[in-house]
Amino acid sequence: MNKKVFKKKFLDLLTEKFAISVEDASLFEIYTTLGTLVRSSYAKDWRRTWNTYDQCQQKQLYYFSIEFLPGRMMKSNLLNMGWLDTVQEALADLGINLDDVLAQEPDMALGNGGLGRLASCFMDSIASEGLPGNGNGIRYKYGLFKQKFIDGYQVELPNEWLARGNLWEVRRESKAVDVCFNGHVYLKKQADGSLEPIHENPTIVRAVPYDTGMVGFRNGTVNTLRLWDAEIPLSEESYYRSIEQRRAIQDLTSVLYPDDSNEEGRRLRLMQEYFFVSAGVQSILRHFKAKQKDFHNLDEFVAIHINDTHPALCVAEFMRLLLDEEKMSWERAWNVTVKVMSYTNHTIMAEALEKWPVDMLQSVQPRIYQIIEEIDRRFIEEMTGVVDWEVIQRTRIISDNLVHMAHLAIIGSHSTNGVAKLHSDLLKNVVLHDFYRLYPDRFNNKTNGIAERRWLQLANPALSQVLDQTIGDSWRYDANDLHLLMNFREDEAVLKQLQVAKQANKHRLTEFVLKETGLKINETAIFDVQIKRLHAYKRQLLNLLHILTLYFEIKEEGKTDIQPRVFIFGAKAAPSYHYAKSIIKVLNEVATMIRHDPAVSDKLSIVFLEDYSVSLAEVIIPAADVSEQISLASKEASGTSNMKLMLNGAVTIATLDGANIEIRDAVGEENIVIFGLTESQVYDYYEQANYHSYTYYESSPKLKRVVDSFIDGTIPNIYQEGVEIFDSLLKYNDEFFVLRDYEAYIQAQRQIAADYQQQDKWLRMSLVNIANAGRFSADDTVMKYAEDIWQIEKTNPKRRQAEDKKYVPYTL
Ligand SMILES: *Cc1c(COP(=O)(O)O)cnc(C)c1O
Repeated sequence: MNKKVFKKKFLDLLTEKFAISVEDASLFEIYTTLGTLVRSSYAKDWRRTWNTYDQCQQKQLYYFSIEFLPGRMMKSNLLNMGWLDTVQEALADLGINLDDVLAQEPDMALGNGGLGRLASCFMDSIASEGLPGNGNGIRYKYGLFKQKFIDGYQVELPNEWLARGNLWEVRRESKAVDVCFNGHVYLKKQADGSLEPIHENPTIVRAVPYDTGMVGFRNGTVNTLRLWDAEIPLSEESYYRSIEQRRAIQDLTSVLYPDDSNEEGRRLRLMQEYFFVSAGVQSILRHFKAKQKDFHNLDEFVAIHINDTHPALCVAEFMRLLLDEEKMSWERAWNVTVKVMSYTNHTIMAEALEKWPVDMLQSVQPRIYQIIEEIDRRFIEEMTGVVDWEVIQRTRIISDNLVHMAHLAIIGSHSTNGVAKLHSDLLKNVVLHDFYRLYPDRFNNKTNGIAERRWLQLANPALSQVLDQTIGDSWRYDANDLHLLMNFREDEAVLKQLQVAKQANKHRLTEFVLKETGLKINETAIFDVQIKRLHAYKRQLLNLLHILTLYFEIKEEGKTDIQPRVFIFGAKAAPSYHYAKSIIKVLNEVATMIRHDPAVSDKLSIVFLEDYSVSLAEVIIPAADVSEQISLASKEASGTSNMKLMLNGAVTIATLDGANIEIRDAVGEENIVIFGLTESQVYDYYEQANYHSYTYYESSPKLKRVVDSFIDGTIPNIYQEGVEIFDSLLKYNDEFFVLRDYEAYIQAQRQIAADYQQQDKWLRMSLVNIANAGRFSADDTVMKYAEDIWQIEKTNPKRRQAEDKKYVPYTL
């Protein structure tokens, strides 16, 4: 692939597609042409990858996730194909800026946050390691809502990401399957005495897959992300006469989170779960059947991963197909199912552990409910006499008229993992302790990771260049080689280059903010970043208390030696999460108050960017000086933005929660600022029930001043929102210990400011963070899953090593 060949092909295709010259073409036409070229160039490898897995009878992984958050695909594909530099230069020759072209692509935002982004980082890493693994999910028409701020309030708009088509997907008509809902089921006696389930009057929905190639990094592997859309079955065209019936089918794959404040919305969500599970499992078994004959050793060919509880129905659907379609005995079917399935738990928050009413599941899919009942009955039978009755009551799948999805996932799989050391320990010792005692061998830890390619190579070219010049480019192939940077800790010239790269990224973000919001920010200030979903446990409120503290120090105490800071936020609140929306409103109003106050506006500013997304993260993270990871200890299972920020040289201010603990272990205590309650102190408070937030409020005038500002008129234009926050802290005793951790947090922030003022020290801290981020590479994480859980092997030898890095697997 060279520039000359590319230019010719590109111009030819532009003419072919649009009958237009490059001077007259719109950016979108250029984007479409480039994308078409890219896709057709990996198509052969896509087919070959697929065929190789079959020919070699390789065991394949299917990663089931109700969310995927890939972001934009173009640049990632160019990088992984080895085309990025050539294309950039060729387009420049034609007078086109590649970045402008890339901006044409809508974010593929089929996820909320960390969980969906993890699934996408894993897709990239699985392909890049040459592992046979595919994704399975839903092709939501509108994905997650688009966030706007109007008068400081969050407003949700539909995200029409498919409006101009999607270059990367291929509709696979021939792979469609039918999914049955509703109706009722009875068992009919057969001539041979066996019982056959008859599903009467089902509603049939046609599931049509859209496949997207997941291109590996310079290794010729292209795996598949399969997303399902719901359609009216061809044979039933006449049955679905009414608009209503047609709409019901469209609704199935319309939005990511149907409004779960009412029964109808919850039912729709459950139907979505069964829909993509059934379609995915059916297509796996159909493919397997076409290639192999014997279903008894299915587990030697298929691994299914259940990403959080949403796809837990995989267990029952797999059983259904083996029992009802393949006529396998219960014992054999169960034996195979457990070996095939594995499950990741993502949270210990009780409200996030899914439970479905028995009635609802029974009516959504009666046969599936029957099977779950039987799994539950056999579980109880097996455990009776082995463990106490109370333990059985706590671990069984169906209790209190609810189906416990996590229990189904654990009982029906051979592996349950947490996503950071602390989280996995909490699962074993507290949250899932009963299960741990029943199945100690099933529990394991797999600390999350990130695709270093996207979060460093793509997002931060300035830093990437410094790294290439300093330690060579082997880190691009193995992120562990970032560790070589440790040799340059005391190298003034390298530290200076890191500073220059950071400043360039801060400049880039400053320009971006100006363009998007019209706000001018001070690019020499500390860029203090908290980007993540808005949730009480993540404690954006604690961050706000610190900002208000600085504000009052300047305004009312006349402090002048405050290190200027720009506080950058990105966060969406769930549409029905009232409290989180109040925090957004108050943050926005404090931002406005500070902006309009000349006494503070040159020292402090808040930039709350709308519609946080992967693409936004890619501009913010490289520019961050400080990474805010301040959840209440024990509540954040892992976190991954903590890893992305560290990789980009931000210094972390953190509680000992999730993967923050492992970040501290990696960089050493002197290169991270830790504060606040530990997980065991939090649990002590729970046990003793002796936390009284009022004590902290009353005994600190500084804190009192800040908390009172929510209700005393200090902050203009807030109403009930301020009262709600005030009450959460005092009347409802501050569920997430914000006031308890306040003083320690303020001290930690002082430490940050002091460290930042010693730029030498700061740059060294930053360097150590970059150098030690390799251990959070998702490439290594997926290899651990592959070896310990999925038992799948690489087709390709280890991706090309530095010596043959000129290898470009894709030609035109
Ligand atoms: C990484 C990422 C997240 C996860 O952030 P946490 O701070 O780990 O919760 C959420 N959303 C997007 C867009 C991300 O890229």
